[in-house]
Amino acid sequence: MIKIENLHKTFGKLEVLKGIDCEIKEKEVVCVIGPSGSGKSTFLRCINLLEEITDGAVYIGGAQVNDLKTNINDIRTEVGMVFQQFNLFPHMSVIDNVTMAPMLIRKINKKAAEEQALELLAKVGLKEKAYNYPQQLSGGQQQRVAIARALAMKPKVMLFDEPTSALDPEMVQEVLDVMKQLAKEGMTMVVVTHEMGFAREVADRVIFMDGGYIVEQGLPSEIFSNPQNDRTKAFLGKIL
Ligand code: ADP
Ligand code: MG
Repeated sequence: MIKIENLHKTFGKLEVLKGIDCEIKEKEVVCVIGPSGSGKSTFLRCINLLEEITDGAVYIGGAQVNDLKTNINDIRTEVGMVFQQFNLFPHMSVIDNVTMAPMLIRKINKKAAEEQALELLAKVGLKEKAYNYPQQLSGGQQQRVAIARALAMKPKVMLFDEPTSALDPEMVQEVLDVMKQLAKEGMTMVVVTHEMGFAREVADRVIFMDGGYIVEQGLPSEIFSNPQNDRTKAFLGKIL
């Protein structure tokens, strides 16, 4: 589903990604962990070209993302992204947030888009909030709307960048539960997270990044119970 070859990313003189190779299979759930500044967000953002790729290649479903012949907007419609900050449109109701992109980009008519939006809002447990505005919702609710909004484009892959890091602790679980459900339904997911319980339970594979490299990867049980690399050990020692 996703193939990344020798991905390099520099900002000015700062080399943030120093040659990442990685494949993500259909329906696979991959959690990316690692210290702050290790390049996790940049890695995700390169997958759907929110950042320009300095060198290397990213393929999604066989199409090379960083090829001038590829229409990047086509790629972006296939890749849903959920950020730490929910980034909902504050002046639009919840349902309008969810219907906007499908109507604008997929050219779905309003009625069909609204039916789909209500289904998705029901799925994330927020059907009754459809006509509220984002500021009337808790952080956890806003993040669940953001997930519904991303799903409305029917993406092939969902990327999550620390989706629960900005939430009050009591709201973390409701968002993780929605993500867990998505994983169960077979969505292909790449999740940058500090929620090690989630990674252990839901991930098919855990990638540990440090200093712009993938330092170690494996089954959650391997990475958490028996890390091989000293940097992985040191990181887990600090957070577990
Ligand atoms: P992580 O998500 O693992 O915390 P990031 O990918 O956000 O790491 O950042 C990795 C490094 O790249 C950091 O040193 C950060 O300061 C730098 N960086 C990220 N985005 C930019 C940018 N737009 N311009 C310059 N430096 C950046
Ligand atoms: Mg980050």
